[in-house]
Amino acid sequence: MPRLSCKAGAESGCVNGQFFISLLNPGIGLLFAAAFFLLWLNRHERYVAYAAGAYTTSALAFLIQDLGPVLPMELQRLPANIGFLATGVLFAAAIIKRYDLPIPWRPMALTAALSTKVFLWFLLAQPSIAARILAISIGAGIIALMVVRALWPIGKPYLIDRVLFWVAVFSALNLIIRPIVLLSLGGGFDNYVGFQQSVYWTTVQFSQAMVSIVAAISLMVAVAIDQINELRRQVDDDNLSGLLNRRGFEAQAGAALRRCLDEGRPVALMIADLDHFKLINDNHGHAVGDAIIAAFGAHVRLIGPAEMIAGRIGGEEFALLVPGAGIEAARQLAEAVRTGLQAACADRIPAKLCPTVSLGIAIGAPGTGLSALMADADQALYEAKRTGRNRVRTFTPKPVRLAAG
Ligand code: GH3
Ligand code: MG
Ligand code: MG
Repeated sequence: MPRLSCKAGAESGCVNGQFFISLLNPGIGLLFAAAFFLLWLNRHERYVAYAAGAYTTSALAFLIQDLGPVLPMELQRLPANIGFLATGVLFAAAIIKRYDLPIPWRPMALTAALSTKVFLWFLLAQPSIAARILAISIGAGIIALMVVRALWPIGKPYLIDRVLFWVAVFSALNLIIRPIVLLSLGGGFDNYVGFQQSVYWTTVQFSQAMVSIVAAISLMVAVAIDQINELRRQVDDDNLSGLLNRRGFEAQAGAALRRCLDEGRPVALMIADLDHFKLINDNHGHAVGDAIIAAFGAHVRLIGPAEMIAGRIGGEEFALLVPGAGIEAARQLAEAVRTGLQAACADRIPAKLCPTVSLGIAIGAPGTGLSALMADADQALYEAKRTGRNRVRTFTPKPVRLAAG
């Protein structure tokens, strides 16, 4: 059984132990690089490609550092450490890109270049292993801090978002604090063999392996969650209008309605139906009808509040659930939908082809379910159609007659 730690220049059993530890990071790197590459083949997301790149460079850097002295000793250090920095840059890019945030390529490249410059100084001008470690590790730590900074202000709706954020925080701390603590405890290194067999380098190899595994698994879970969400979106979305489809609307609006009623917040539901739409289809073709449906969807998304849940629940019929809206706010929004439709159609079809729209409103009351509320709004819509179309009507419950005593 090989020993896992030993002093410089010790017997061969010790070299074997070090050898196996040295295989840890290249092995993990190559394994995850292959896994991310396979994921990328399946799903051409840029951030997955960056992750595959990060694990490839990590594997190569550790291989060069530990196992492949193909170059003269001092020259070997340069590609290995550039590889470590490139790993940090690519991994940061992978996490940041997952959130579609701008990747800080320039600050990351500048940090990597500065680290390399300091590293080269302590390699060639004033050789010091300890100073070189600080240069590279702190450089990589600053790059990890850029991920922390990028993710700090954004919402983290899923547990995995918080895990990715804390992986970045932990990596930054690990990269910045670890070398300072360990070097201050252990002092410098006399020579390279001493460094490779030091507690410091063994700690780096193990902690890096752990961070690599946690980070890779977190990113893979993130890929899986993204994939599930995308499928869910495809199932719940209506491509033509850009709104939800009936299924998606009922699921989201049902939940939002329950929340509002539980919290005692007002909530309004309106159903909109384009007027004489069949005539437009018959006279001008289906493509014009489709363009109008797309324009209506874009119009509603533009003027509706952020909390609104909007769906196309039938051919030319739409439902809007507006949390927080009482009768007056709902009426105002419905009027804005109605009166703004002409302008919204204008850049897609000749203005004179744009139909008018009728809307019915119902206000949520304690104990009302979504289907009952939709039936009420539908009844108001029927009134709007019956009384001439191109108007907004509000559902008014029939007065309850009290039995005479
Ligand atoms: P009303 O004012 O009473 O609502 O009359 P209408 O003609 O709008 O109502 P009707 O329900 O008779 O017709 C709806 C038409 O919507 C029938 C169908 O041709 C059209 N339609 C349904 N889905 C689509 C679609 O996805 N694209 C297009 N272009 N037309 C659609
Ligand atoms: Mg219609
Ligand atoms: Mg209809």
